[in-house]
Amino acid sequence: MPLAVTHVLLTIILVDLYRDYVMKNHKKLLSMHTLLIAGIAGLLPDIDIMINGFLTIFNMGTALLQHGGITHTPLFGLIFLIPGFILWKQNKHKLATICFVITFGILFHIFLDFILGGGAHTGIMLFWPISTATFKLHILRQLGMANLPMAIDAIILLVWLWHEEAKHKIKDFI
Ligand SMILES: [Zn+2]
Repeated sequence: MPLAVTHVLLTIILVDLYRDYVMKNHKKLLSMHTLLIAGIAGLLPDIDIMINGFLTIFNMGTALLQHGGITHTPLFGLIFLIPGFILWKQNKHKLATICFVITFGILFHIFLDFILGGGAHTGIMLFWPISTATFKLHILRQLGMANLPMAIDAIILLVWLWHEEAKHKIKDFI
């Protein structure tokens, strides 16, 4: 399953690439601060591990908050689009961008868990709350490559550092 570092790093890298190559003249809408929020949002669905751990202490664990449950549904990510569009209409474009970035981070987390194998063993409830049917590809589990995420982390970090160095942008992150 993807590690926390993979979720955070990949989300930040993709949002940063989007900022550099797609937004170009609108870069200012997406600050370094927002990039940090992107990284946190990329890990946000796994907050169910903490919530569930906390609830279990008080014997209040619920099935819906099991790891890979409702915080791993597309709905959880799409909900942030609502404040996003409202803020955009109010011309608060920077704040709206934060909401859009959170949606992306959550959906991308779910996508990674779905493809590589994370969250619940049973898969992702793609259509919750309409249906509780679960879907998964879980490529890494099927291939028996449990240690691969560690290697992926290292490769992602190295390639990104190379990219930043090549663009002389390392200072952006210090
Ligand atoms: Zn997850």
